[in-house]
Amino acid sequence: MTSSANTSFLRPADRIASFKSYFFAELGQRLAALRKLGMDVIRLDMGSPDLPPEDFIIDSLVESARRADTHGYSDYGGTLAYHQAVAEYYQRRFGVTLTPKVETLGLLGSKEGLFALSQVMLNPGDVVLIPDPGYPTYAAGARIAGAEIHWVPLLQENDYLPELDAIPADVLSRAKVLWLNYPNNPTGAVAPLSFFQKAVEWAHKHQILIAHDAPYVDICFDGYVAPSILQVDGAKEVAVEFNSLSKTYNMAGWRLGMAVGNPQVLRYMHTYKSQADTSHFLPVYQAGITAMLGDQTWTVARNEVYRERRDAVVTGLRAAGFQVSTPPAAIYVWAKLPAGTNDSADFCSRLLQETGVSITPGVVYGQYSEGYVRFSLCTPLDRTQEAMRRLIQWMEK
Ligand code: PMP
Repeated sequence: MTSSANTSFLRPADRIASFKSYFFAELGQRLAALRKLGMDVIRLDMGSPDLPPEDFIIDSLVESARRADTHGYSDYGGTLAYHQAVAEYYQRRFGVTLTPKVETLGLLGSKEGLFALSQVMLNPGDVVLIPDPGYPTYAAGARIAGAEIHWVPLLQENDYLPELDAIPADVLSRAKVLWLNYPNNPTGAVAPLSFFQKAVEWAHKHQILIAHDAPYVDICFDGYVAPSILQVDGAKEVAVEFNSLSKTYNMAGWRLGMAVGNPQVLRYMHTYKSQADTSHFLPVYQAGITAMLGDQTWTVARNEVYRERRDAVVTGLRAAGFQVSTPPAAIYVWAKLPAGTNDSADFCSRLLQETGVSITPGVVYGQYSEGYVRFSLCTPLDRTQEAMRRLIQWMEK
């Protein structure tokens, strides 16, 4: 084919035309280029667990993969045993009783479920309430569905909880879905059960579905234990919760997640998914079941590793002149830039270029997040400490 070939007919669909590639996809390319030039890059940007799952989980995958009868297509939405394991995990961890398959759905990581929820619940013109800062997939799914986004600010002075009563009545009357995410990415904030109680009551009153995204629910520090929204009476009538093995069991690359709660919404998602994907590799489900039903003590030791890193980041940030609070959960430290700087993308870009330390600009998570930066805890302690040393020196210049 010659380079002058006319390919203007290869225009993308309108629904995708304005999308840029995901922030971390572009960042990865920049980091690769810097490394090629010899820079010693330390990544405190993405939230991808650096530690592996325990051996007994990997053994379970291998044993299952060696069997002759595990290589065909598996059940849409997860095997019965996977649904049962999800229900058992919810019972043990939260005291929440779920009917397997009716109130549980297997996902290929929770991200695809977040996206699917928007496709099955939102018509063009429907309003969706999305927290700012918020995980970008909530807005991406809404935009592809043609929905109208109403941003709900999560402000530091409100402990990063939304003010549900401040949402205007005309917005509420058209709103179909409210997204929540606790423990929160990017702020590390947590929600008490009393907040979920209030939110469930609000959802009943305004007839709005709550989609609670809870992949960090098992990464808690200093004795804190994060609740599930399904612990609230009446939650199943108005809420679905997304959960994941990515962070709880260091299995981010395995792509195993779950949606639980309202059976009607799960049915719509099941139908949508049965058109879009053909479930997962059986040995991956098997290993996920082993993770959820097996020994849990190793995750306590793993959380200690994150806690040490968190303390190193918080201490380093304070020494560098940031005002920062200590997050009780999740794998991030969220910090307001010191006075005089507000452009988070510029700050992160210069920090990377001049020190090799890669962090995430707040602006990736929304307009209220401008002026903040996010540090992730997925790098070994000595490298995390080295990154903080570089930051402190750089800020002194
Ligand atoms: N929700 C939030 C808030 C996240 O931070 C992430 C991953 N970083 C996900 C969902 C998706 O996780 P996964 O698809 O690996 O389950």
